[in-house]
This record gives sequence, C-alpha cells and structure tokens, in this order.
Amino acid sequence: MNSQYDLIIVGGGMVGTALACALGDSRYRIALIEAGDLAQMPDTPVVAVQDVDLRVSALNMASQAFLEKIGAWQLVPAARLQAYQQMKVWDGEGTGSIQFDAAEMLEPHLGHIVENRVTSAALLQRVQQLSNVTLYTGQSMTGMTRVPGAEGEEEWLVKLSSGEHLHAGLVVAADGALSQVRTLVGFPVREWAYGHHALVCTVQVSAGHQNTCWQRFMPSGPLAFLPVPNSQMCSIVWSCPQDMAEELTALADDEFCRRLQGAIEHQLGEITAVGPRVAIPLRQRHAIQYQQDSVVLVGDAAHTIHPLAGQGVNLGLMDAECLARVLLENAAKGLAVNNPLALRRYARERMPQNLTMMAGMEGFKRLFESDALPVRWLRNTGMKKVAGLGFLKQHIMQEAMGLQRAAVLRKKGA
Ligand SMILES: Cc1cc2nc3c(=O)[nH]c(=O)nc-3n(C[C@H](O)[C@H](O)[C@H](O)COP(=O)(O)OP(=O)(O)OC[C@H]3O[C@@H](n4cnc5c(N)ncnc54)[C@H](O)[C@@H]3O)c2cc1C
Repeated sequence: MNSQYDLIIVGGGMVGTALACALGDSRYRIALIEAGDLAQMPDTPVVAVQDVDLRVSALNMASQAFLEKIGAWQLVPAARLQAYQQMKVWDGEGTGSIQFDAAEMLEPHLGHIVENRVTSAALLQRVQQLSNVTLYTGQSMTGMTRVPGAEGEEEWLVKLSSGEHLHAGLVVAADGALSQVRTLVGFPVREWAYGHHALVCTVQVSAGHQNTCWQRFMPSGPLAFLPVPNSQMCSIVWSCPQDMAEELTALADDEFCRRLQGAIEHQLGEITAVGPRVAIPLRQRHAIQYQQDSVVLVGDAAHTIHPLAGQGVNLGLMDAECLARVLLENAAKGLAVNNPLALRRYARERMPQNLTMMAGMEGFKRLFESDALPVRWLRNTGMKKVAGLGFLKQHIMQEAMGLQRAAVLRKKGA
C-alpha cells in the first residue's frame, strides 16, 4: 500500500506532535509516525507518588503560549498542572544563593511543571481533531530512500514496520536524541558524554513544595526538586556520576530518602515516601546542520542538553513553532514544501538560539562541578552579584521564562 503526503513527521513525542498541531488545518497532508502507543491522559488527581509520571518538564511561558495557540494547553486537566512562583538555587559548597520570584516580573508564575505524558496526551488529542493529519501509532520508521516522484522531482519513500510505504517531499525528524532519521540521512553531529546520569523519581516531602523549584548545586552535579500537582510531592532530578546513580538507584527506600534529605539540606522537611527510581544517561549532542536533502531536524533530534535548567523541550517546542511558521509562509506563497530557502531560514533562526542555551548550560555545569577555591569564590560572589543587580537578574528570568516569545505568540494573528 502507498500513501502520498506533503510531509512526514517521524516521532510523535512532544515536539513532533506539536509541529503536526501547528500545521493543522493547513493545505499540507501530514503523516505523523510514532513507534509507541497513544499516550493516555490520566483522569485522576495525584494522591500517591506512583501517580506521577517519572518524566516531567518545566514548561516556560513561551511553550505555554505556543501550546495555547495550537489548541493543546486547553486540553491539559487543571488537576495535572502545577504552576511555580519561585525558584531557589544555591551552591552546596559555599554561601552563594539566588532566588527568582514571579512577583519581581509582575507575572502570576515563572512556569508550570507538567508530566510529559500529560503534555503528549493533550497534543495527541488535538492531532486527532485535525483532518489533514494521519496518525500512525505503534509503528516505527524502518528505512528511507530517495525515489522519483510523480512530478519528476525526487521525494522520500519512508518504510514503516507494518510494511506500509509512505511518500512525501519533506521528512521531519522528531525522533528524539538517538534519531534514526538523522543517522540514516547522515547528518554530522557533535556530541560528548557528560559522565552524568539523571536519577528521576517522585517523593513525598513533609514541609510541602511551596510552589517552588529547588536546586542545589554540588560538585557531583545538581539536584532539583520540582513541585507536582500535590502540595506534598516533588519530582526530583538528581544528576550525578554513573556509579553514584547506580548506587542510589539500588538503595532501599528508607536509606534513599535519608540520603536525599541530606543532599537537599533538609530544606523540604522529611522525605516520607519515594516512588520507582530510574537513572537516565546524559549526553550533549548538537547536529551541525538542521536541514539537508529535504529532511529537517527538530527537538532532541537536533540538540540534547543537560536538564539542569529544564530547557530541552522548551527549545524543541520553539523549533516546532518556527518550522511551522516558515512552512505556512511557504504554503501561502505557493512554494514547494521542501523549498530550500525556507528550510535554511528555519535553521538560521533556531541554531543560534539553541547553541546559546547549550553553551550557557555547559558553562554552568563546569562552574559548579569544580572544587577549586578560586572557582568557588567566583561562583559565590557571582551569585551574590547577580542577585544584587536587578537588571541582570531580570534579563536571566526573561530568557528562562521565554517572556518575549510568549508576548509575540500571544499577539493577535501572530
Ligand atoms: C531527566 C530529564 C529532565 C528533563 N527536564 C526537562 C524540563 O524540565 N524542561 C524541559 O524543557 N526539558 C526537559 N528535559 C528535556 C526533554 O525531556 C526533551 O527535550 C524532550 O522530551 C524532547 O522531546 P522530543 O519530542 O524532541 O523527543 P522525544 O521525547 O525523545 O520523542 C521522540 C519520539 O520519537 C519516537 N520515535 C523514535 N524513533 C522512532 C522511529 N524510528 N519511528 C517512529 N517513532 C520513533 C519515540 O517513540 C518518541 O516518542 C529533560 C530531560 C531529561 C533527561
């Protein structure tokens, strides 16, 4: 069986699905291929640590504005959204600390913590309402080749694990950090291992999360407590060397809670329960090009960064927003979906933004992992300086919250 599309999106994670939604009701015929099953929307409030997805994301204001614009944010149940008003960051080895407060920016919150499966389920519900998107779930892309198309131009033939063959002028790789599309097409990539694993789990805390994100930096790596939609629970991301992550994962629950309580310096009271623990290896990767041969990379397929500032999917969603905007402009001008000038425009707009964030995160990580006295002095005085310089602190908050982009996206007709 053959099916003809304008574009095929490989990967129905948050970024690929958001792109399909952003191109909804356009003239493009779109195939969205996802190897996993449809994400199910949880319909109960969070009452136990096991109720929370192991993977959560801090979504900034720009991501929220984009998800609103494409009709997905409205489908997230209020019982599964957790706004945070404050962020407390401190140096575990010194005296430096800094606090970010939504009130300083005259905003109701700094962002929201949302389980990844909840964002995905909302996006998939939205996709199912779109007549120009065909969903292939539970099917993997297994191969791609260039073949002559109907109008004499070359196009992509994409093979699915079901045996089906799909054709399109453009393929978008939204298939995550280990992107098969990126490998098959031969995109050059720069990558290096951090030597870190991120241990993730949900915990119950006696002092409550106080609608605050907490982050302590240690030479072994940062430890973050993120508030989830139950005032007594947090999702944690503990970045540390692999052997330490393995040791922490293997500990008995009560011993793990005791270690975690000490690591966060008892800031959230006692840790009284812990859910399943998983350690995820962390690597930094960046594709040297975002487009070649009528294939475009978005999200983690284009860039993966350390989760310490919670920016990975925020960058990915802005990739989707930018690519959709460029492709819709293309359609309005009657140009081909794979018009190389348009695809280059996407790469030119997104690459500097993504690289700037990646470089910032790398610098941050190195600054905090050093135990050398001058570096400790630098980060302690640095944190105090930033805290004291209102304009610099506001600039950092503006960038992390994606405030400028959110304002553009919320403008009527943008
Ligand atoms: C511990 C941790 C914490 C994080 N916290 C945050 C945070 O707070 N804020 C933030 O912004 N980011 C965060 N991130 C980053 C964020 O999780 C990623 O950036 C985001 O999930 C990337 O989304 P994606 O859709 O690009 O890729 P993915 O989520 O990896 O989705 C790719 C999809 O493609 C599918 N797929 C793969 N291969 C194929 C194939 N051959 N055929 C069909 N389908 C295929 C997969 O099944 C998957 O569903 C964190 C990351 C980690 C590791």
